[in-house]
Amino acid sequence: MDYEAYFRARIDDLRREGRYRVFADIERCAGGFPRAMRHLGGQLREVTVWCSNDYLGMGQHPKVLAAMHAALDRYGAGAGGTRNISGTNHEHVLLERDLAALHGTEAALLFNSGYMSNWASLSTLASRIPGCVIVSDEMNHASMIEGMRHSRADRRVFRHNDVADLRRLLAELDPALPKLVAFESVYSMDGDIAPIADICDVADAHGAMTYCDEVHGVGLYGPTGGGITERDGVAHRLTVIEGTLAKAFGVIGGYIAGSAAMVDFVRSFASGFIFSTALPPAVAAGARAAIAHLRESGAERDRLHERAATLRSRLDAIGVPHLPNTSHIVPVMVGDAVLCKTVSDLLLDEHGIYVQPINYPTVPRGTERLRITPSPVHSDADIDRLVAALGDVWARFSLKRAA
Ligand code: PLP
Repeated sequence: MDYEAYFRARIDDLRREGRYRVFADIERCAGGFPRAMRHLGGQLREVTVWCSNDYLGMGQHPKVLAAMHAALDRYGAGAGGTRNISGTNHEHVLLERDLAALHGTEAALLFNSGYMSNWASLSTLASRIPGCVIVSDEMNHASMIEGMRHSRADRRVFRHNDVADLRRLLAELDPALPKLVAFESVYSMDGDIAPIADICDVADAHGAMTYCDEVHGVGLYGPTGGGITERDGVAHRLTVIEGTLAKAFGVIGGYIAGSAAMVDFVRSFASGFIFSTALPPAVAAGARAAIAHLRESGAERDRLHERAATLRSRLDAIGVPHLPNTSHIVPVMVGDAVLCKTVSDLLLDEHGIYVQPINYPTVPRGTERLRITPSPVHSDADIDRLVAALGDVWARFSLKRAA
């Protein structure tokens, strides 16, 4: 086989479909976010980032940076090993305590990313509990799907956020079988929010465990940033709350929180936890600073939600269509892969606005979009510029307007 030709042909397929991913090469500016410098043809051009998951700008918060600098000087660069083999730094222990406190759970367990925490936890729980059946929301994230697949457990898929469908599927299963209902709190591409209390009611009625990915909720919702599960007063009802340190908390890493026994079970059996070097202690220190700040301060959350509401009403005023939802995510709909990429390129090249196209398989074909993520650090002037640029592009390509 001509392997090289095969690789090139598949990449050409992606290009033809308009879904070939080109990464904007940027330098984030600490203290200047959402501003970044874009490397292009040997030159640097300033851009405004409108698609970051550093939702609250904590990646540049002085407390986070100070904690990371201090930890770097104190502990050095890396953890030096897996958690079992010399890699457990005291910062990891403290961070796991902080995460358990954030969610009001007995324990928490760190992973190197949110992806890894989903993959490792779901695969471990579903494969190590004999006969376990997973009932999964159809819109669950790739990391959850990969974890469930890897478990080789029997899997049923319920219609997105449809509690009646979940009930129907659970009722069809043998009551004696162990079950795990897996879903997200905030779905990152549509920005809609799960009816968590109702899901817990149905799961409880059928003796099922519950696994909630709070990656797009933690830090952003609830009085202390515990996520939608805190906002809705249901954190105690979940078997597993999974989250990331890479979005609202501005650093990197993932975790699960829950009972001491469940966390110890995953800690003891999850290959993706056991056999990977621990996060650098400075990262753990930065995450602790971000969590501590956001437990005390609601100012960033309030401003985030105000910015999202302001942007939505400005888009409504010029008829740029966006999906209605009650979260901080503003998906602006284009509906065609090639057009979406063209629009995104034009925003970047002509307006210095960086919002990458979202195409299949991240979203279904025909629902291609610009996923705009306003943050507390986007000013009124930034919103003015974004709305004017979108207005220009919508007119130039005669794109469909909202009624
Ligand atoms: N879960 C969801 C719903 C996500 O959107 C993502 C992705 O970014 C992840 C998990 C993975 O988290 P992380 O970026 O920390 O690996």
